Amino acid sequence: MKVNNAEITISAVKPEQYPDEGFPEFALAGRSNVGKSSFINKMIGRKSLARTSSKPGKTQTLNFYKIEDSFYFVDVPGYGYAKVSKSEREAWGKMIERYLTGREQLKSVIQLIDLRHPPSEDDIIMYDFLKHYNLPTIIVATKADKIPKSRLPKHRKIIKEALGLEEGDPFVLFSSETGQGKEEAWAILEKRMK
Ligand code: GDP
Repeated sequence: MKVNNAEITISAVKPEQYPDEGFPEFALAGRSNVGKSSFINKMIGRKSLARTSSKPGKTQTLNFYKIEDSFYFVDVPGYGYAKVSKSEREAWGKMIERYLTGREQLKSVIQLIDLRHPPSEDDIIMYDFLKHYNLPTIIVATKADKIPKSRLPKHRKIIKEALGLEEGDPFVLFSSETGQGKEEAWAILEKRMK
């Protein structure tokens, strides 16, 4: 997909603030610094619509990006950032749980995982949570450009096994540097939009 139109519509914390057109939505979840903003920007061909920040864990809102006036990317604040307080973490948990478990137009969750390392405890908890609620999931393994080609299969296998990746959940190797995986990801999203 070639994106001509993308804009941030709202940073929401409460359901009353979510957009109400009923457009399909794809949520993005991942640890802080995994490359979530870079993924969104690469997918829509923008340099910096989604904020790439050096302050992980800063955004504690659900950011709705309207794409081509027809669907939304919903950026969920990154998890696994040690410096947030317990009460902040709880508020975060409630906000995303409410969104992920109660949103009818949510088509799939794109869970981003750093391909360089085995999934963290938080990555595994998130995937288990998504599967518990039967949410269709797409795993996007980021920073693929940082792994030599010969070692890609091994890294892929480690992540799939650690998550217990379910059949039907695609696994996409992605790089926001080279654009690897962009077309594959779009093909999956276009299919799931319907
Ligand atoms: P976020 O916190 O998940 O939104 O992560 P960002 O998109 O801000 O990225 C965190 C850091 O990783 C930044 O320094 C990015 O430039 C870098 N990064 C993100 N994706 C890639 C990638 O595919 N390849 C490489 N080499 N670096 C990446």
